[in-house]
Amino acid sequence: MSNKALPILPGATLGILGGGQLGRMFTLAARTMGYKVMVLDPDAASPAGQMADIHLRADYTDAAALAQLGAACAAVTTEFENVPAASLIALAQHCRVSPGAEAVAIVQDRSHEKSWLAQHGFATAPFALVYSEGDLDAALADIGTPALLKVARLGYDGKGQARVNTIEEARAAFREFGARPCVLEGFVRLDCEVSVVLARSDAGECALFPVAENRHVDGILDVSIVPARVSDSLAEQARTMARAVADRLGYVGVMAVEFFVVDGALMINEIAPRPHNSGHFTLDACVTDQFEQQVRALAGLPLGDTRLLTPVAMVNILGDRWQNGGPHWGALLAHPAIKLHLYGKAAARPGRKMGHFNVLDADLDAALKLAEQMRHAL
Ligand code: AMP
Repeated sequence: MSNKALPILPGATLGILGGGQLGRMFTLAARTMGYKVMVLDPDAASPAGQMADIHLRADYTDAAALAQLGAACAAVTTEFENVPAASLIALAQHCRVSPGAEAVAIVQDRSHEKSWLAQHGFATAPFALVYSEGDLDAALADIGTPALLKVARLGYDGKGQARVNTIEEARAAFREFGARPCVLEGFVRLDCEVSVVLARSDAGECALFPVAENRHVDGILDVSIVPARVSDSLAEQARTMARAVADRLGYVGVMAVEFFVVDGALMINEIAPRPHNSGHFTLDACVTDQFEQQVRALAGLPLGDTRLLTPVAMVNILGDRWQNGGPHWGALLAHPAIKLHLYGKAAARPGRKMGHFNVLDADLDAALKLAEQMRHAL
């Protein structure tokens, strides 16, 4: 990565691979700070493309588009983990790229990610790698049941996952996933789930956001509660582990580490090489939000203050809510301490993330109560 002209100052153009909601919020943060933004995404209606100065509508492997992006931008980042590593390598010949291809290549494949975590001494749920149907017997004998079979690549939000109790179920799930490489994971009994979003600079400085407590429904994040209702020592352990992961990866940029809490101890579930849904609370509740922090890390600026200004509950708004005539925004917007964020997606499909809202209150229980009321009122 070339660091010759750091920091990159307002007026310069920043690029992003991927035009989803994370890219949109990066774009808004960068433009607020005076940068120009170029988005590469094949979708003409992409949420980030709508907000960008320039939207390149091309595939992530399109050599001409990558060259154009690299020539126009002082630095390029990404908003999704499945960006082809080769595209990041190609871009890095033209401009600064963060995060780097090596880190993304590790975390975009569950089998690499889990193996890397185990090699570096980080606790995970028990797992076995499954490359062919023949591996399933030994994997199931090793891990036990119930277990979760997860595709190694391109699974997200609980997609490409099946709970299995028998070898027959495991075989059926493996075939249904197209006999692709998978990870078989022990199904652990969760006390709760927490996550840490952090930014790491070129010099190795880390700025960590407060720990979020996350509730999922059907494998998709539903609510994040901050501060997490865990002991101070567990929260500190989560931050220490997240930082150690970033250090070991030599990571530059914003990333998230998701944890399971099992019998009072932490296991790492996943690493995301980008801002994270569970960090959306920072948009309204922290001095610096995770997208400004992404801009700062990318531009080589000093990292922003991550202090929490108020307790907060973040609620995701999924496309399911459009099934019976669409959400009742009035009730939500009538409340003075609720902040609505919609992503500009035209089509509302079940499970699709359409937006979120943050409920701010000095009393966390009151924030959570109002968040629950609004979830139902929508
Ligand atoms: P993932 O996409 O792997 O992060 O899984 C989505 C959600 O499914 C997690 O946030 C958990 O709520 C649940 N989950 C995934 N793996 C396990 C596991 N091994 N044991 C128990 N719950 C899990």
